[in-house]
Amino acid sequence: MKQLLEKLSNAYGVSGYEDEVRDIMVKQLGKYCEVEVDKFGNVIGKKGSGNPKIMLAAHMDEVGFLVKHIDENGFIRFIKMGGLEDQILPGLSVKILSEKRQLPAVIGYKPPHLMKEEESKKKVKYEDLFIDTGLDKEETQKIVQVGDPISFDSKFADLDKATFMGKAFDNRIGCVVLVEVMKRLTGFKGTVYAVATTQEELGLKGARTAAFKLDPDYALALDTTIAGGTPDINKTETTIELGKGPCITVVESSGRGMIPSPKIKKQLIKCAKEADIPYQLDAWKEGMTDAAVIYMTREGISSGGICVAARYIHSPYSIANLKDMENSVKLTLEFLKRINELS
Ligand code: ZN
Repeated sequence: MKQLLEKLSNAYGVSGYEDEVRDIMVKQLGKYCEVEVDKFGNVIGKKGSGNPKIMLAAHMDEVGFLVKHIDENGFIRFIKMGGLEDQILPGLSVKILSEKRQLPAVIGYKPPHLMKEEESKKKVKYEDLFIDTGLDKEETQKIVQVGDPISFDSKFADLDKATFMGKAFDNRIGCVVLVEVMKRLTGFKGTVYAVATTQEELGLKGARTAAFKLDPDYALALDTTIAGGTPDINKTETTIELGKGPCITVVESSGRGMIPSPKIKKQLIKCAKEADIPYQLDAWKEGMTDAAVIYMTREGISSGGICVAARYIHSPYSIANLKDMENSVKLTLEFLKRINELS
């Protein structure tokens, strides 16, 4: 699983521009089941036939940026694609993913030596920032076009045997869990759809069209959630921590996102307890997963969520734990094995 996470984390896939990730997912899922890419760009793997039908959804896209315009001196202005805090942006290394070539660049930052006191106190706004390719205007214009996606330029690295850092763990981790579940799944009586979705970060879009097409009986979102346990997050904000097991969603976005089907939530807890898998219960104040739209599809689809805790999501580097991924795979498989207990 680690090798696949490394590959997927280093791949670029800003929302709507998931091609590189999609190619990897088609190949990986294709080893274990039938695969198609639907009209919207979702990858749909299928194992088994008949009822019940269950949809597992993991989004492929990541937050990033898009070229808005190139100014008269060749500096690039940009818009944000997804939830990103402006204050983390100055000085970041990024990659402009142009058709001609991938261009490394830096988000410009005024050195402290030149900052006036009021400037250093001012709140950072992304509209005031710019991207510097180091090239002159003509060179930049030859390569970069308005609309080119821009990604964090971060490389995956091991912290220890089971802890990693890298970009886009939200939600390449879910993609890895999805592939691993399909790899190990045998003898399921019914149909499992493994869906790697597009454009989750900008409105859960791919999951919406895929759920309509597949019309499943049940669905699970396989995603990441915010890990606390760091000096800046106290237990009243979140009790979720790295290494303490998969997180079973109890609510998303204070009820504005998915409210899981009680049956599915209880069954996930039962499966974890009886198979001796550690787990955490996760009440999200903010944030949602693909399940928030899947569960409102057609007449409603009984849904739940299994998420892996990760620190610093929506930033150039997240930290996550292999044990949590392994236990998420186990919990998903246990849930599938006992699917007839739901009816
Ligand atoms: Zn996510």
